[in-house]
Formats: sequence, C-alpha cells, structure tokens
Amino acid sequence: MFINGEWADAASGATFDVTNPATGEVIGSVPDGGADDATAAVAAADEAFGPWSQTTAYERADLLYRAWELMTERSTQLAELMTREQGKPLKASSAEVKYGADFLRWYAEEAKRVAGEWLPSARADQRFLVLKQPVGVVAAITPWNYPISMLTRKMGPALAAGCTLVLKAAEATPLCARAIFQIFADAGAPAGVVNLVTALDPKPIGEVFCTDERVRKVTFTGSTAVGKMLAGKAAGNLKRVSVELGGHAPFIVYPDADPVHAAKGAAALKFLNSGQACISPNRLYVHESGAEAFVDTLVQRIGRVKAGNGMNDGIGVGPLVNEAAVAKVANQVDDARSKGADVPVGGERLTGEGFDGGHFYAPTLVTGVTDEMLIRREETFGPVAPVITYSDVDQVVAMANDTNYGLAAYVYTQNLSTAMRTFEGLRFGIIGINDVNPTSAAAPFGGMGDSGLGREGGHEGIAEYLEVKLGGFAI
Ligand code: NAD
Repeated sequence: MFINGEWADAASGATFDVTNPATGEVIGSVPDGGADDATAAVAAADEAFGPWSQTTAYERADLLYRAWELMTERSTQLAELMTREQGKPLKASSAEVKYGADFLRWYAEEAKRVAGEWLPSARADQRFLVLKQPVGVVAAITPWNYPISMLTRKMGPALAAGCTLVLKAAEATPLCARAIFQIFADAGAPAGVVNLVTALDPKPIGEVFCTDERVRKVTFTGSTAVGKMLAGKAAGNLKRVSVELGGHAPFIVYPDADPVHAAKGAAALKFLNSGQACISPNRLYVHESGAEAFVDTLVQRIGRVKAGNGMNDGIGVGPLVNEAAVAKVANQVDDARSKGADVPVGGERLTGEGFDGGHFYAPTLVTGVTDEMLIRREETFGPVAPVITYSDVDQVVAMANDTNYGLAAYVYTQNLSTAMRTFEGLRFGIIGINDVNPTSAAAPFGGMGDSGLGREGGHEGIAEYLEVKLGGFAI
C-alpha cells in the first residue's frame, strides 16, 4: 500500500495473491489492509490537505503533467500488466492506458480554469464574490474492469481541484493500481497527497471511508447494489457523494439506418473487454426491416472473434474476471434459451487447451429476446449480444427507456430529426448517435436512475471536488 509517501505493508502483516484470469497463474501478492490501514491513510491525506490545497493551480498541473508523461513512457509495461491482471487483449489495454493518461493531461489543463465569479448586488454598497475551493480529503473506491482509467478519472480532477485522496483499488486488480501510484511517487507527489489501500475484504475500508469525519467526499465506481449502500452511509454523515454504477444500454437501429454498418458497430462495441463494461449494449433493438441483414452480419463478425489469452496475437475477447461472472453469463443465456430465444453463435463456456485454467465464455448472439428473460433487465457483463426485433418506430424510445438504469444508449439513424428526437427522448447520461465510442476525458460521463449520481470527465468532473463559497462584501 502507499501511505504518507511510503510503500507499506498491512498493519496485520497479511497479504493476498493476485491471479491471471486467463491462466489461473498467481502473478503477484499485495498487502491485505484493514480498517487501521484505511484510517492511517485518511490521517495522512488529512495532514497533507492543508499544504496541498494552498499550492497554485500551476504547481498542481505540473504534478499531473509529470504523471501523464510517466504513464506515456511506461505505457507498454502498463498495458502488459493490465492484460495479465485483468485479461483484456493487449491492444485494448494499450487503448485504456492512453485513455487513462488523458485524464491526467486534461485535468492538468483544467486545474488552471477553476474560476470564481463576481456578482452584482441590488445594494449599491455590496459586492458578491464566489470562490471555488477543494472539498477536502477524498475517499475513492474503484472497480476491476478498467483498472487504470477508473483511477485516473478520479485522481486527475481531485488533485487538480486541490484535494488529497485515499483510494481503495479492486481486489482483482491491485497491481495496476500499484503501478499508477508508483508513477505519482516518481512524479514527486508530496507525502500524503495520494494514498493507496489494498484489501481482500472491502467492507471495513468502506466503513472508514463513509464514517471518518476527516473524509469530505466519497467517490465510487462499481455495482449498483454496493454503490447504493455506500452512498446511503456516506450521505448519512453528510459527505459529498458521487457514484458511477451499472448499466443496461439499449442500441437502437432505425429502419433508415444501414443495418450492416450498425451491426459492425454493435460487434465492435459489444465484445470490448469481453462485454465487461458499464456502457456495453445489453439490448439491441433492430427494426424488423433490417433484422435479417443485421443478424447475418453479427453472426459473421462474432464467428470471427477469437477468444483466448489477451497476450496472444489476434485475440478479440479475453477471459471474464472470475467463475462467478461465467456462471452469471451462462445463467442468463440458458434462461433465454429455455424461454424460446435462439442462440445462433456461442452460448457455451469455452473449455480445452488454452481455456481450462481461465474463465472463458464464447462470444455469443441471442435473438428473439423477450421481456420475460433475465437478460432483458439484468446487466450481463459478458460477451453476449441480445437482439430484440421491433416493428413500431414510435414505441422504440419507450422500450429503450424501460429500465431502472440510465447510463449509455446508442442510436443508428440517417435522419437528423429522428436522431435529435431520440437524443432528447432517451433517459440516459451518455448517448452515441451513429457512434460507438462517446467517451473522452473532455466529456461528462455518468448516469441517471440506478446508474448513479454525478459526472466524471469534463468541466463537470472537477466540480464534484469543489465547494462553492460566497463572500458578501459591504463597501
Ligand atoms: P463491485 O461493486 O463489486 O466492486 C467495485 C468496488 O467496490 C471494488 O473495489 C470492491 O472491492 C468495492 N466494494 C465491494 N463491496 C464493498 C463494500 N461492501 N464496501 C466497500 N467497498 C466495496 O463492482 P465490480 O464487480 O468490481 O464492478 C463492476 C460494476 O461496476 C458493474 O456493475 C459496472 O457496470 C460498474 N461500472 C460502472 C462504471 C461507470 O462509470 N458507471 C464504470 C465501470 C464499472
């Protein structure tokens, strides 16, 4: 763990192993921290907050630029580590390192644009000044599916704003977290400004984060169930809270769209990170007029996706994170099959040479999905593309909105007014219009409903780490 500028063991001395999900091989071991370690990290961040919050935005930007440079220099090693620890194909790991590094560069620039306001008053002898200041110590909890970019997406804006931070990394991917904190150490982060805690059991750490009065903000990315629980606890202590949670993204193909082009986009998007992405499409709504061409193209594309160890050339889909994930995906596909769906490609766990040590499920297409099936409502988090054929164009937005989640949605159409009406009508935070990658460090990312509270990235991302202070000046 990294506490108060030093690498540290757990107070208990305990450790836990980290395994490669493609092979089952142990690739490292990290401290198994507990409440005492989390409290020590919070104390260090609290101690460092005063001086760090007094630095100029230019000094904070310099740290973020140096960290960005080091991430860029070490991008090959970081990507290889990510593939071994998390499983995604090497090319996807390289893309994530670049995306993750961009949050540091973008917020290095944004640090200098945190401006206040001078407001006129109705009283001639009064002026109002609005000042933005850092909220204080931030406690962050991150998931395993994007084990680098989910860290920098929080660290970039928090540090730019002048906050100090304690981060608990996901138990499946602490080695990537360690590599990022090494970068901040090498970049010259003052002691206590960034602190890393690793733990096999996250609960005691979460408890400290939500109850220690020195923590002023809790930021979480992960599942909806855990996010709701932590947000409730943190809000009970009146801490600022932002939570980026699960999703169930619709992907709408209108009759005027080219179904082949849309299917290519769907195939490229759905199998990214083996479908283990919060913005992964979970319902492909295809108009009946284009359904045959759409499904035929998906069948061909999916048939060509090669599953295996992401370190090997030509692999398009890596392993799932663990056995529970394989079981969840298999259960959704079996449930759909038993309720009448077709599974023209995939639909089984992958076994045999190259697969047996890991957690692999075949890239899968499910057609004829109906409302009764689990996959229609539950987040899959696996390499399964569920297709729903629709006939009434006027109903499709309502069908897409029929979910408690509200993170990402995708729309394919050539008609400008259809695009605009659908963009306005969908109850989701991120909408790709003929675009399967509507994300960037510069853009606000986040969801509605059960997908969360708050935004990360863009101007909105730094506002989450700032307090607004008003001064009324009688002159
Ligand atoms: P998870 O909720 O199980 O774990 C996320 C993090 O929370 C991990 O660090 C874990 O150790 C920690 N955690 C779990 N239980 C805890 C507790 N009781 N107290 C404190 N911390 C606890 O989720 P996951 O399986 O790691 O991640 C997958 C989920 O994350 C999916 O639902 C996915 O959609 C979501 N996700 C959302 C976004 C987004 O930006 N909206 C991005 C990536 C992932």
